[in-house]
Amino acid sequence: MKKFNVAVIGAGAGGLTIGYTAKGFNKTVVLIDKNRPGGECTFGGCVPSKAFINIANHIYKAKEYINIVPNTEDILKKVREVVESVYEAKSIEVLKKDGIDYINGFCKFIDKNTLEVEGEIIKADKIFIATGSSPKIPPINGLDKIDYLTNENIFYKDKLPKSIIVLGGGSIGVELSQAMNRIGIEVYLIEKNPYIMYKEEGELSKSLEEILRKEGVNIYTSCNAKNIEKYKDGIKLTIEKNNKEENIYSENILIAVGRVPNIKGLELEKVNIDYDLKGIKVNEYLETSLKGVYAVGDVVGPYLFSHMANVQGIAAVKNASLPIKEKMDYSKVAWCTLSEPEFGRAGLREDEARKIYGDSIRVYVEDYKDLDRAKFKNNPKGRAKVICDKKGYILGASVLGDRAGEIISEIQTLKSLGINLKKLTKVIHPYPSYSEILVKISKKLYVDTLLDNPFIKAFKR
Ligand SMILES: Cc1cc2nc3c(=O)[nH]c(=O)nc-3n(C[C@H](O)[C@H](O)[C@H](O)COP(=O)(O)OP(=O)(O)OC[C@H]3O[C@@H](n4cnc5c(N)ncnc54)[C@H](O)[C@@H]3O)c2cc1C
Repeated sequence: MKKFNVAVIGAGAGGLTIGYTAKGFNKTVVLIDKNRPGGECTFGGCVPSKAFINIANHIYKAKEYINIVPNTEDILKKVREVVESVYEAKSIEVLKKDGIDYINGFCKFIDKNTLEVEGEIIKADKIFIATGSSPKIPPINGLDKIDYLTNENIFYKDKLPKSIIVLGGGSIGVELSQAMNRIGIEVYLIEKNPYIMYKEEGELSKSLEEILRKEGVNIYTSCNAKNIEKYKDGIKLTIEKNNKEENIYSENILIAVGRVPNIKGLELEKVNIDYDLKGIKVNEYLETSLKGVYAVGDVVGPYLFSHMANVQGIAAVKNASLPIKEKMDYSKVAWCTLSEPEFGRAGLREDEARKIYGDSIRVYVEDYKDLDRAKFKNNPKGRAKVICDKKGYILGASVLGDRAGEIISEIQTLKSLGINLKKLTKVIHPYPSYSEILVKISKKLYVDTLLDNPFIKAFKR
């Protein structure tokens, strides 16, 4: 039996953050993982997907000038090299050097302070659960008989198929559809909602859909996958749209319809830790129904991002160790989809803001085509949309366009620090830059709020 101050189940984004934060508090720490440390982000998520997208985008640009027939075997090898280089920074050796113990194996609960890892008993004063999530596999007739692809296995194949159906038009499905299409794979993207990126600002999602269609991605919206079967050397997927059935043929299928929390086998019932289909239930301090046991990351939600797992990880360790508790605040979350153009978001969509704040909100849009920096590119695409309250405080923003991730980060800074967007009029931005799009919006807001001022109104009259 081994004893620690802190034991963490799962050594992904959340688990690693917990490990290092607890170590910083001078605790003895063990990370337990059935795989190598790094989690989904390193091996099947952010890292391989973005490495792949980066290569695909370079090939796509080069194809404007020369004829290239990409070898997907080489591309996947390169992607795996990037994964290994990222892994190096959090390898078992690095953990050991940093004074963090690591046990490789599947872990389950025995009691509040006791875990079992394949026969070995681990005791800890505090236990943290950071077991992440897995791809959700929809109940499509025949899918269990197909050797289908998910984000977990696609980057570890010898090569990619020549044609592929991508089931799910959320960020994972969209990013990978565009990238695969850009390297010459015939892509069929299937989405059950009326447009792709359905959870994002509708008008921008539809623009992105249009861009993808123009690039050659075959997109089917408002349709359901009904049946799948082997057909010749590939598969046949039957979809239903407007009560009509249609068959789509391809070499394979990538499932990207959502995530399920990794709770199976943890034996949470034994220790009375509550959970539901969305994951482990925690209070605002990230403590589970079993006092003293905390949970973070994808297994908890509500936002399934590496940066959320990190933020929750730090908060959970503080709450477990310090007398002052930190409540989670999910009103200040931002994210970005690495499509081209990028799609960034912070806070509320317009319809969400209107529901909460009514018609007093101020909505501003500014197009990339009117931005000098974007004009230098042929046919600039994109739009920034910012929603403020009456006074000019940001409620939400969405940006579709080049560097959207960076622009949304500037918005996120103003929003999180409670700075009125009007103040941006006084901040000198370099010319020409994409971030000037926000200065343009702040100037419009400035004028609008000025014109609303009763003294100015009276003067104007
Ligand atoms: C294709 C894709 C692209 C993504 N891109 C981004 C992105 O660009 N930006 C972003 O912020 N997020 C992205 N994400 C989401 C991100 O990967 C996750 O939000 C993040 O990894 C969650 O971290 P976590 O610590 O909760 O779980 P994970 O990182 O998944 O770690 C969980 C760990 O727990 C281990 N484990 C599970 N059960 C047990 C058990 N019983 N015993 C022992 N070990 C166990 C697993 O092996 C795993 O290593 C992407 C996800 C996908 C699928």
